[in-house]
Amino acid sequence: MKIIDAHIHFCQEPYFDQIAELAGHKNTDAHLKDQYAAHNIVHGVVMGNRSLELCEHDYPDYLSYCIGLDSTCFNVDEVVQQASLVEKHLQRKNCVGIKLYPGYNHFYIYDSVVDPFYQLAMQYKKPVAIHTGLTASSNALLKYSHPLILDEVAVRYPQVQFVMCHIGNPWLVDAIAVIEKNENVAADLSGILEGRIDNMQDFFQKKKGYIHFLKVWLEYLDNYERLLYGTDWPLANIANYIEFVAHIIPEKHHDKVFFDNANRIYGLGL
Ligand SMILES: [Zn+2]
Repeated sequence: MKIIDAHIHFCQEPYFDQIAELAGHKNTDAHLKDQYAAHNIVHGVVMGNRSLELCEHDYPDYLSYCIGLDSTCFNVDEVVQQASLVEKHLQRKNCVGIKLYPGYNHFYIYDSVVDPFYQLAMQYKKPVAIHTGLTASSNALLKYSHPLILDEVAVRYPQVQFVMCHIGNPWLVDAIAVIEKNENVAADLSGILEGRIDNMQDFFQKKKGYIHFLKVWLEYLDNYERLLYGTDWPLANIANYIEFVAHIIPEKHHDKVFFDNANRIYGLGL
């Protein structure tokens, strides 16, 4: 089975190096490429971090990227200037979307101040991915990353495709409600595992309540056209993650979730 990893970070700095080690990986291009080859992962979508400068976003051919406005490079008071930089990225073929990090940046995604980004997404027909659910740092604010925040932008911008990153975990029920109601909202399944798990069977047993809950709500949604495989590399072990998603998604939907949906939604042309 061919796989697209629809959510990774590709940032050579100590924080990412450290979490890669905990996942049993090395945070290098060469190691990632080897791992992708070993697991038949033919493409990855980088969620951008740290800079809006064009020169900071050069990636190898097997990766595309969403230009990301994280807390180090985004300011709600400078949206107009930042939108013009974002537009330059969207004109590139390998820039396949925009990534917003509202929990880390402390803004509601339906605030009119961020409208210029949705206008660009419409103009360039590229999706907007949004971090939802728990955050990696304690100074982020969860009220901005709750999955329900997507409802209002999804209604206001019916032509924009949204990707709810991390499927709002652990607010899975709220996330499923937003996805079910809004046809223009998909979700990636990244960021649910972290580190390296030595024995997945033990893990499934230990977490059986959570996994059952997740499966129940995915079955309730019953829409495997809008779920995307993603790992949040380098946060999690790649082999673990494939096994995890294969376990929670019925086998007849694997091709869609592991490959087709990301290929279509991010317009990868693979
Ligand atoms: Zn991420």
